Amino acid sequence: MSSSTRDEEAAAATRPGESAERPSNFIRDIILEDLKTNKYKGRVHTRFPPEPNGYLHIGHAKSIHINFGLATEFGGKTNLRFDDTNPEKEEQEYVDSIIADARWLGANWEDRMFYASDYFDQLYEWAVQLVKAGKAYVDDLDAEQVRQYRGSLTEPGKESPYRNRSIEENLDLFERMRAGEFPDGSRTLRAKIDMASPNLNMRDPVMYRILHATHHRTGDQWCIYPMYDFAHGQSDSIEQITHSICTLEFEDHRPLYTWFIEQLGIFPSQQIEFDRLNLTYTLLSKRRLLQLVQEGRVRGWDDPRMPTISGIRRRGYTPEAIRNFCAAVGVSKTNGITELAMLEHFVREDLNKRALRAMAVLRPLKVVIDNYPEGQVEELEVVNNPEDASAGTRKVPFSRVLYIEQDDFRELPPKKFFRLSPAQEVRLRGGYFIRGTEVVKNHSGEIVEVHCTYDPATRSGNAPDGRKVKATIHWVSARHAIDAEVRLYENLFLKEDPSDVPEGQDFTVNLNPNSLAVITEAKLEPSLASAKQGDRYQFERLGYFCVDPDSRPGALVFNRTVPLRDTWAKIEKREQEKAQ
Ligand code: ATP
Ligand code: MG
Repeated sequence: MSSSTRDEEAAAATRPGESAERPSNFIRDIILEDLKTNKYKGRVHTRFPPEPNGYLHIGHAKSIHINFGLATEFGGKTNLRFDDTNPEKEEQEYVDSIIADARWLGANWEDRMFYASDYFDQLYEWAVQLVKAGKAYVDDLDAEQVRQYRGSLTEPGKESPYRNRSIEENLDLFERMRAGEFPDGSRTLRAKIDMASPNLNMRDPVMYRILHATHHRTGDQWCIYPMYDFAHGQSDSIEQITHSICTLEFEDHRPLYTWFIEQLGIFPSQQIEFDRLNLTYTLLSKRRLLQLVQEGRVRGWDDPRMPTISGIRRRGYTPEAIRNFCAAVGVSKTNGITELAMLEHFVREDLNKRALRAMAVLRPLKVVIDNYPEGQVEELEVVNNPEDASAGTRKVPFSRVLYIEQDDFRELPPKKFFRLSPAQEVRLRGGYFIRGTEVVKNHSGEIVEVHCTYDPATRSGNAPDGRKVKATIHWVSARHAIDAEVRLYENLFLKEDPSDVPEGQDFTVNLNPNSLAVITEAKLEPSLASAKQGDRYQFERLGYFCVDPDSRPGALVFNRTVPLRDTWAKIEKREQEKAQ
């Protein structure tokens, strides 16, 4: 079966257990209901709120797809907002990469790019407002004590001895916290809610902490920083966000999100949670991805083995493929795991339509056609993309000495091996039939050369006498071939769940030592000499490849984006059979 047929089959079936129609989407349903009741006067305004503490990954692509996709669908808007309340981990480099990556994915926030740090003054005023209302207090317990007093899921918390300070004292202490009078961690500002609440987030959550750290935007202006819970909802409210869509781990924070908004009497943004994207053989956690970068396990955030947007871009994935994948994954209210093969399937499906075909031999074996005139060169015409007639055709030079893939020849062909062998005929892509005659070996018995004859009557790719061949193989003319480096990637992790590790070890034990294989002497057809950084091709019979940024004229470097074999289509078929 050709790869395109497989792709079509799988695409038509979408996901196991799902119909081919648009997947159900409970967030869309909420928005539709809000539009019906005119809750936000017909407005839909979402935001994508990355923390600039790492590069975006494929999980963020899902969030971008949901936030921007839903707003677009309803004629609404989406803001990009940097959630930058943690100066110790945030950097301008991350801000810049996030902007570039989100744009590349197709996100358009027009002029609405904001930072939570834009709101530090307003947040401080609101904190003072809560202190004045008796809803917040300065606590002198340290972090460890706060944890102890909080209790657990089965035990209620204990009230802090500082909980009932007077409003005046709280105002004075909070102002002095801001003025820098106290060391890091010595005091916090806490909301006064309920230490017996069954929801731990409501047990007097910390609103502000003391941290003498330089912020990438506000410098040393602040030495107290708001916690996520006291920054996020308020930032949403300032921007008049209608639907604040986040991942499920924030579900238990929602009562607090709503509590702050109600106590402050500000614009009522509403929080809605969906499932995080998890992928097999992949880790989607900025902290762990940072560890891989810092420990030199990969070449950087944009290493093509990384699940980061910059990594998969460099590898050759397209924004369209990622969007199609996100659309097919849909949203749910429970966390699950998605097959990495499904993502790869959408990459293949998209590249199949747009990538020009080319011939490249990764592990060359020399073939000499004994009955072809020495010094003669012919130009064979081949199709650039069978999926797209407008891509036209090109000429590839053919001559007496060729390279074919070592794998395409067997001296002693096993059963069902239909490619070249002594006495077995195959078609060369774009033209002639050749038949093996003898092999030449080196001193250690390895085949270094295969001799063949060709049938001049088969130039059209068919034999006038009607005889058939069972295989068509790719090749390049040795005289005309250009050399290239080709980087082949396998999964970065060996285990489906990379965080499944023996006690006392960390996830790096699951790294795949063979995730990168570098081929330095691949032979490419000459038309590829002009390939530019980012250009994508299907190397016939091998997979999709793109030109790496390391590439230079005369020293081309290609990345394998994805091989042709579509395991997702197989998985899906199995799932469907199980379901029947
Ligand atoms: P990580 O755990 O990788 O550090 P995060 O949630 O801390 O991720 P943020 O920068 O806070 O990263 O995320 C920005 C937005 O992207 C948030 O709304 C978050 O919920 C969403 N997001 C992050 N990871 C995923 C994921 N795996 N799937 C879907 N959405 C995600
Ligand atoms: Mg986060």
